[in-house]
Amino acid sequence: MCKPSMINQEKDSTTRFTVQDSWVTPDPLGPEMEVDLRHEPVRLQYRSPGKLQGNSWYAFSADLEATSEPHEVEILWPELRSSSGEYADNHSFADVLDRVMFLSERNGHWQRLEQTTRIPDGVRVVIPPGPSDRRLAVGMPVDMDDLNALLAHADDSEHARVERIGTAALGTPIHAVVVGDAARAEGTLVISAGQHYSEWAGLRMVDEMIRFLLGEQGELLRKRFRWIFYPWINTDALALGCHGDPLYTQDLNLNRDWGPFERPETRAVRDHLTREMTRGPKLVHLLDLHMGWHSRDTCGAGMTVPEEGNAPQALIDVQMAFANYVMERADYTDFVWRHGALDRPNFASWIGRCFGAPAQTVEISRHRWRMRADGRWVSPSPELERALGRALLLGLAAFYEG
Ligand SMILES: [Zn+2]
Repeated sequence: MCKPSMINQEKDSTTRFTVQDSWVTPDPLGPEMEVDLRHEPVRLQYRSPGKLQGNSWYAFSADLEATSEPHEVEILWPELRSSSGEYADNHSFADVLDRVMFLSERNGHWQRLEQTTRIPDGVRVVIPPGPSDRRLAVGMPVDMDDLNALLAHADDSEHARVERIGTAALGTPIHAVVVGDAARAEGTLVISAGQHYSEWAGLRMVDEMIRFLLGEQGELLRKRFRWIFYPWINTDALALGCHGDPLYTQDLNLNRDWGPFERPETRAVRDHLTREMTRGPKLVHLLDLHMGWHSRDTCGAGMTVPEEGNAPQALIDVQMAFANYVMERADYTDFVWRHGALDRPNFASWIGRCFGAPAQTVEISRHRWRMRADGRWVSPSPELERALGRALLLGLAAFYEG
């Protein structure tokens, strides 16, 4: 039996509390979980009255109080059965909740909860005993503390320049991290993440990349290339929590704004990158990190390569070669996503239009990773996300060697 004290709640323990949403900041306007403490086991039910498009995916976290014995919790995702939006054939995220339940540890690390059971529209999960400063989460949320720690680390390094490039619509600063010597480097590589606010892996991967580059092992790569990172573009969402379909911010999908440029976030990155490219070596390649989702049986990971005719053949060839190069070397996926035309208003296509450089949207799986050695599919972990970050960094450098 779950003790009522296990999950933080209001004094009236019968029903509701507002859980922290994906980005940890409680917000009365935010999506809520209804908590039924009388249910055995305790049940968290996602409530999304009119806020989430049918087949949305999401991440949230709830604070836990100290427990001396294991407890079971059920999480239901029932209101998301209807489908709509740009990816209307995506299934309900309830289908993979058993693969994406995580528990935060004291050091900010996340461990995946292994004891999960599928139930209709959700999952039953066993939470091991532990201290009070833990969080239970769907997905592995990243928050402003993670971004700030990375920016502080880069700022402390003599090898990086951290630059405030603008602010998001509600005033949260947006930063770039530039590594390498523009005067001597042979090319510029650009990596970005966080246009979509629930796509947590991107920040963890960029964190790994930047820390590697600034460490001893990164010396050669720092010399050969100028690296420009946009660790998290949609910073309002990270700071304040964001509600509704996680693809959208105030009804606009940032990754469909690279043409209209109606949003300050996209304009900030556009202006910074354009400025940077007036000096230093040419733009060689961009990777824009996202997280995909389709169904329980498909991982949702993949690297975009436009169909023939939708971009100059030379770009298509390089992107296909790079996608294959990574897939042969990393525990990632086996899927090349034939998607993205040069005239689409997304970041990667804008790079192709503006700089004539290969640029790819990299979808990372929320729930399924392919182990290259034996073809097994396993569930995500922080280690796999970090390893992919490093593999992409080293892969990019090695691909352009010579
Ligand atoms: Zn995305």
